[in-house]
Amino acid sequence: MKNLNHDKSAALLERSKKVLAGGVSSEFRKYNYPHALFYTHGKGSRLYDVDGNEYLDFTLSQGPLILGHSNEELLQAIDEYSREGQLFAGQHIREIELAEKINKLVPSAELMRFSLSGSEAVQTAFRIARAKTGKHKFLRFEGHYHGWLDNVAWGLSIPEDKDLGSRSAPNVFPWTEGLPAHTRDEFEILPWNDLELVKQLLEKNHGEIAAIITEPIMCNKGCILPREGYLEGLRELCTQYNIALIFDEVITGFRIHLGGAQTYFNVTPDLSIFAKALASGYPLSAVAGTREWMDVVVEGRALHAGTMNSGNAPVAAALATLSILERDQPHDRMFAYGQKLKKGIQSAAKKYGHNLLVTGPGPMLCMGFTDQTEIHDFRDTLTFDTGKLKKLIAALNQEGVRVIGRGLWYISAAHTEADIDHAIQTIDRVLSNFD
Ligand code: PLP
Repeated sequence: MKNLNHDKSAALLERSKKVLAGGVSSEFRKYNYPHALFYTHGKGSRLYDVDGNEYLDFTLSQGPLILGHSNEELLQAIDEYSREGQLFAGQHIREIELAEKINKLVPSAELMRFSLSGSEAVQTAFRIARAKTGKHKFLRFEGHYHGWLDNVAWGLSIPEDKDLGSRSAPNVFPWTEGLPAHTRDEFEILPWNDLELVKQLLEKNHGEIAAIITEPIMCNKGCILPREGYLEGLRELCTQYNIALIFDEVITGFRIHLGGAQTYFNVTPDLSIFAKALASGYPLSAVAGTREWMDVVVEGRALHAGTMNSGNAPVAAALATLSILERDQPHDRMFAYGQKLKKGIQSAAKKYGHNLLVTGPGPMLCMGFTDQTEIHDFRDTLTFDTGKLKKLIAALNQEGVRVIGRGLWYISAAHTEADIDHAIQTIDRVLSNFD
């Protein structure tokens, strides 16, 4: 039992609260255990806080650090290219090299534009879809996260006294105050993984739907795989009704396969969003698509801009990240380690009589306390005992194993088999004395 001390972080949080709203720079950083922590450095699979605690890190900074912390080759590439300038308000050769590389890895990425965050790139994809189809709405799915901006900050949570309504006519709730009511009119929403519902909705409403946006694996709630034929079915419907199929690959991109979930599942979207792992923690995202859909950007009909887009450091980071992944091919290892971890958690849960379900393909996994043995959509995840999960995440954190608060584990290329064994031993110890 390590039982880490966080006194220095607690003092810094109080100081921080005087100048940073809530003491943090992103809402989700509040939800660490026992409170927002302050870190000094990271190396490989390890992260260190101001109290001198060492963590075996499975958060990967919410996903981006696919190479782990402070990869030497990555930092050197960034350092060298940054010394040639920061940002030119003009083009540079490495941007083309990066786009060529993404195009080679992700065949549907015939043309692309770079931005800073996944949230921005999602909005660009909506604009492209609207400009090309002349239609207004997008169809999205309950529990899928597409960033924090107004028109997608709905349908992610449910107030305690409310219900989700029927599957064909869901109730939708805002995720935050301050959303303009009209943003609710921008989208239709359905439970995920149910093709029949999408068919029924499109039969009636296809004339107003410009895009269907989906995480190809529902990573933000429960790490849920698509049912067989589901993504293919969405593909067919989109083609039939002149609708853009948008894969939000912010989590799956370059992680589940170098060619993204679209290569892994062999389903080709019209537009894709990449961020997180693309640039190993530097601000870079991409909206990418087939020439047919991206032409509205080429023609200047769908505006995309941004002062800070494609600076030297993020472009160098992305080039180095993708080159290292291509050369070292860590994906099989990441899958194998993820599967080993999954089995380890499952067998510890079984041994000590906990109803802990572990879902996900390997490079990302999700845990939830539930009596269900299978989950297929957001509604299924509402059976999770979130209070109990919080306690488990807190206990792991106290033992020096850092997992994302909603039970999500990311495996990086820097994790070793010894790291996985250590994580399994830790969770076994924690679950042996847990209620
Ligand atoms: N889409 C998905 C699937 C995400 O997981 C996220 C972030 O977690 C986003 C979009 C938004 O990306 P960003 O946080 O870079 O704005």
